[in-house]
Amino acid sequence: MITAAAWAGKKFAVLGLARSGAATVRALLAGGAEVVAWDGDEAKRNAISPSPRSRGEGRGEGPSSSTTSPATAPLPTLSPEGERALTFADPLTIDLTGFDGVVVSPGVPLNRHPIVAHAGDTPIIGDIELFAQARADLPPHKVVGITGTNGKSTTTALIHHILEQAGIPTRMGGNIGLPILAQDPLPAGGVYVLELSSYQIDLTRSLDCDVAVLLNLTPDHLDRYAGFEAYAASKARLFAMQFQGTAVLGRRNRASASWAASIYRYNRSRVGTNVKVVRLPKTYDETVTFGPALAGSHNAENALAAIAVCEALGLDAETIRAGLQSYRALPHRMAHVADVNGVAYVDDSKATNPDSTAPALNAFKRIHWIVGGLAKSDDLDACRPGFANVVHAYTIGTAADRFAELLGGDMPVTVANTLDEAVKLAATAARPGDTVLLSPACASFDQFSDFEARGRAFAAAVGALA
Ligand code: ADP
Repeated sequence: MITAAAWAGKKFAVLGLARSGAATVRALLAGGAEVVAWDGDEAKRNAISPSPRSRGEGRGEGPSSSTTSPATAPLPTLSPEGERALTFADPLTIDLTGFDGVVVSPGVPLNRHPIVAHAGDTPIIGDIELFAQARADLPPHKVVGITGTNGKSTTTALIHHILEQAGIPTRMGGNIGLPILAQDPLPAGGVYVLELSSYQIDLTRSLDCDVAVLLNLTPDHLDRYAGFEAYAASKARLFAMQFQGTAVLGRRNRASASWAASIYRYNRSRVGTNVKVVRLPKTYDETVTFGPALAGSHNAENALAAIAVCEALGLDAETIRAGLQSYRALPHRMAHVADVNGVAYVDDSKATNPDSTAPALNAFKRIHWIVGGLAKSDDLDACRPGFANVVHAYTIGTAADRFAELLGGDMPVTVANTLDEAVKLAATAARPGDTVLLSPACASFDQFSDFEARGRAFAAAVGALA
């Protein structure tokens, strides 16, 4: 566990006790803080501390839910000091004056959640900010922070893999893997590689990355921001927190190129900072591949970002090259699931916006495209360059009718509504050599708990074909 001596005697409220919230409570208590924790789900409260207090009895915070989800794996028992320092109450029902922070999960929408007004001057932060505060107590180390609209997980996993292969102690966290505070500290010389969504950056105030990366910027998550500029500015804050080290800036699309220029100018204008800026290319040669799992110009961007990061960390070219070659793709990103009757089935469930679907449509010929879900925008223009590769589209989810309308002029479309139905229809129509591609260009929450569940459902439907 990662904790900080600086938290001793401080007081925090923690709202949301899923994985990272639970890890946060543990880390704060271990650091000697007083914690008021809350989750509407009683099972999650009980998982932290099975004492009767955890059921909120007699605390007047309203009825607890009787339809609780099953508790996650039980956490180790708290020490007596930890038990004494922990209470349960909904932060919305208590006076937060004098608290040192309200820790919320990145899933809490800051643009409309009542906690923001209720917290007043008390900072609203996340576990990445707490990690930043704990850095002073960690053995000498480096932190790499990666943000951008698409490619964050791939680039994070790739950097982590190259470092691991090079024998450098490393951990991966943030928006990927285990909560960072639940992980054990690295020995001296280690590198923490953090994937950072805009939501996580919004909850972070003092993370001075040794290497910070901005991959690309295209419209996404606009329900949480006043507009695209506000979303982009939120990501760019990663660089306002950086006072040393290296900034790696992607420039493949207009918005990221323009932010890269501003961040470059900003760093030159700041007195007392020493940030080296590395700018990635604006265009990429589709034919250059950096490794067997890194095909396509989108992965060239990810690979060049990873190379720049590893160079900044002092790795030599041969070590980096070997790591790129041995990297294997993460699940649900253009992952080959099976071949059935000569037809390839590809799971790209992680493509949750049109810009992330675009590379998949360019990567195959004769595609039966399963698209739809909870749409984030009302157009599919970013996918247009790959339309010529699509033999037939099958639309699913709440976007099914709208997408059928949008695509109807460019390709044959069938409204399939469910993923199972789409797989069956595509399997019937596909010829040997064709590809059935799930690349939804949409969020999954209308029909699935997340993109992983959607990818698993696709694999199961494909399995049922055989
Ligand atoms: P993130 O973590 O930012 O969502 P991932 O690495 O999980 O990114 O990739 C998500 C989706 O975006 C996948 O469908 C992938 O094919 C596509 N993708 C990956 N890298 C890029 C990139 N640099 N530009 C555009 N799309 C990308």
